[in-house]
Amino acid sequence: MSHPPLTQLSDEERLFRDSVLDFARKRVAPRAAAMDEEGALDRDLLPPLFELGLMGIEIPEAYGGSGAGFFSAILAIEALAVVDPSVSVLVDVQNTLVANAFLRWGSEAQKERYLPRLSRDWVGSYALSEAGSGSDAFALAARAERRGDRWILNGRKLWITNANESSVFLVFANVDPTKGYKGITAFVVERSFPGFSVGKKENKLGIRASSTCELVLEDCEVPEGNVIGEVGKGYKIAIETLNEGRIGIGAQMLGLAAGAFDHAMRYMGERKQFGQSIASFQGVQFQYARVAMEIEAARLLVYNAARLKDAGQPFVKEAAMAKLFASEVAERTASLCIEFMGGVGFTKDYPVEKLYRDAKIGKIYEGTSNMQLSTIAKLLQAGYDAKG
Ligand SMILES: Cc1cc2nc3c(=O)[nH]c(=O)nc-3n(C[C@H](O)[C@H](O)[C@H](O)COP(=O)(O)OP(=O)(O)OC[C@H]3O[C@@H](n4cnc5c(N)ncnc54)[C@H](O)[C@@H]3O)c2cc1C
Repeated sequence: MSHPPLTQLSDEERLFRDSVLDFARKRVAPRAAAMDEEGALDRDLLPPLFELGLMGIEIPEAYGGSGAGFFSAILAIEALAVVDPSVSVLVDVQNTLVANAFLRWGSEAQKERYLPRLSRDWVGSYALSEAGSGSDAFALAARAERRGDRWILNGRKLWITNANESSVFLVFANVDPTKGYKGITAFVVERSFPGFSVGKKENKLGIRASSTCELVLEDCEVPEGNVIGEVGKGYKIAIETLNEGRIGIGAQMLGLAAGAFDHAMRYMGERKQFGQSIASFQGVQFQYARVAMEIEAARLLVYNAARLKDAGQPFVKEAAMAKLFASEVAERTASLCIEFMGGVGFTKDYPVEKLYRDAKIGKIYEGTSNMQLSTIAKLLQAGYDAKG
């Protein structure tokens, strides 16, 4: 049986990817530098993101979504990151974490209430991390206590992407700390719920237009019907959503690298020194040929992990590899692209300086590089143990 090349897109996939790229170039690119400078998303970008169906890519059409597969979400995240990784992560979190959790674990009543809103006009956030629990996510301290027909949530979440724009938050809290991680439960918290507020916004190195904020839960009242999945099974939701989310971050980093490379290649073709273009020096050619190879390798890893996921096959090790490698490639590529462009690469006249700063987050969120390495190592070990 012959298989199409992994990076070959169907006509439908190519059309979709090109339409997102076109939107990113026409609508996002002109605002990207100002959004970075101001450290805030231009809210005018939200309505077209919803109208294009990019905020509910995998949500079935019956709930108002686009009804496409996971691979389409990956293509959109990649295409947006070519231009602006901040807009890319907004779409990434909405699709690969928030909508994903509702689709897989939401009750019919939750799907009916939230999926049409997420497709139409509500941004969502995913709130797992806290000041004391990052890599050790299940050490979270937020508590949930049952009172009558409500849950009362107390605690603080840190680093929550999209928090300024979001109307709905998937919040992880522990209902019984004596049970350790088996007390962790996922709650749907609406911005308007009593006792909920968005706190301090971080002032960051990169993806500055993406809001990253603290969430404050002070006797926050959540209706009993707003537990996603089962009480005490939130850890499973966190693990499984993040396994998929990592492919999204791989795609974000892939798009970022491709975007930086495109700017540098165009510049090097035009810029002349010693009477010839920069791109024609063999020393430089050897460098950019290697960069192109690394981007291609990252694309293969990311697309492979996404296609495995869509095919219902095991993908966790591949997802960790894709995220780890793509984030390394993004950082190396953006750094070299600045060098390829010399002094102007170091200025804000070109987007590469911003992409270099944006690249750094790829090694940190949704599991640091060390956490990806330990996932890969554990799965390798388990494979050998099974072989005996
Ligand atoms: C911009 C941004 C957006 C984010 N968005 C979200 C979001 O939307 N939702 C959310 O829940 N969280 C979010 N996060 C949080 C993010 O997932 C965490 O920052 C990340 O998981 C790392 O946790 P930490 O910052 O506490 O680092 P730590 O866990 O303190 O790690 C510090 C260093 O120690 C290393 N380390 C830790 N443990 C080990 C170990 N066992 N072995 C080897 N090395 C180890 C790490 O690799 C890292 O290099 C975001 C963070 C940022 C910066």
